[in-house]
Amino acid sequence: MLDVKKIREDFPILKREVNGKPLVYLDNGATSQTPQQVIDVIVDYYSNYNANIHRGVHSLSQEATDKYEEARLKIQKHFNAKEAYEIILTSGTTESINLVAHGFASLLEKGDEIIVSALEHHSNIVPWQMLCEKTGAILKVIPMTLEGALDMDAYNSLLNPKTKLVFTNHISNALGTINPIDYIIKQARQVGAAVLIDGAQACPHLKPDVQALDVDFYVTSAHKMCGPTGVGMLYGKQEWLEKLPPYQGGGEMIATVSFEKTTYAGLPHKFEAGTPNICGGIAFGAAIDYMNAIGFDNIATYEHELLDYATSELLKIEGLKIFGTSKDKTSVISFNLEDIHPYDVGTLLDKMGIAVRTGHHCAQPIMTFYNIPGTVRASFAFYNTKNEVDALVAGVKKAKMMLS
Ligand code: PMP
Repeated sequence: MLDVKKIREDFPILKREVNGKPLVYLDNGATSQTPQQVIDVIVDYYSNYNANIHRGVHSLSQEATDKYEEARLKIQKHFNAKEAYEIILTSGTTESINLVAHGFASLLEKGDEIIVSALEHHSNIVPWQMLCEKTGAILKVIPMTLEGALDMDAYNSLLNPKTKLVFTNHISNALGTINPIDYIIKQARQVGAAVLIDGAQACPHLKPDVQALDVDFYVTSAHKMCGPTGVGMLYGKQEWLEKLPPYQGGGEMIATVSFEKTTYAGLPHKFEAGTPNICGGIAFGAAIDYMNAIGFDNIATYEHELLDYATSELLKIEGLKIFGTSKDKTSVISFNLEDIHPYDVGTLLDKMGIAVRTGHHCAQPIMTFYNIPGTVRASFAFYNTKNEVDALVAGVKKAKMMLS
């Protein structure tokens, strides 16, 4: 059981007002809030041991290096990676995806096929399009159903020996659909394709086990799970990370450098050129500790209660339509009010202190599928309350009255 009242005490930002009203923060899908425990780690880093890592002999540098590598171990343990060096620290999901897409440019041939899903965030579409332009590979799309789920029969018919890479998110940011990634991975194995899963929206709600999934790559961002922005990770199976060329050249990623020839460092440093987000990496580890202390089973149960309650209350509003009605979904509700523009609803809600996302949520193909300009998206975290759901419902009713 979650003690939400106590948990809310951990988040200083939840005490503030917006436009003279108590903040109701329902934009967790865009970024989550940061608990004091993580803020303290950030302040401690800059107050006490800010130093560059991996190359200093002095004590501060050693301390920072130890903490940074400790964070990598926490991340490894959390995702159950076999080796710590299979965790590459990046600036976030987007960079992790680009790193893999860049690497695959040297492994693909003209006519090879890449499968992506119709539910993708732009960061999971554009890098693959760029890769196809570079290599002559062909992009295929798993279509979606009206409920906002992926059509698995269509997926199976796309798979063939030319399929080299399958790419999908674990949970859709625009609709909250939980995709059947176990099945997607299993089927991709039949044709020998590698699978990359974008876990940006999954990691705040559940704890993926990369070995049990037998996934080749899994990526996420710390800021979606109570950590800071500008840091994230790429999990890659050792065999793949060894096969892929480095992403960027620079310090940290080399073994030896001469003007005749440079040799690269081993994993994970081969993919970590330059000074990383040291404080961010350490705080990412602290965020993982924080979420595990609350417990992902507790989080899932509580968020589902919120989702069910919010869904049934919102559906009582005449003319409100929810997009994404798959039974496997997380605490995200994307909706529209008749033909009122989502931006107008979001602007009025903001005046009432309620933060939601409006627009296409970086997933324009989904909006095109539904033939809508965008949606209003309320995304709930474990620190939200039923009272906040009530505030949202009252706010939407008021917005409807004002805009109809
Ligand atoms: N994929 C999904 C499913 C997302 O929700 C997001 C963030 N909205 C991203 C990728 C990109 O994450 P970031 O901006 O942290 O790189």
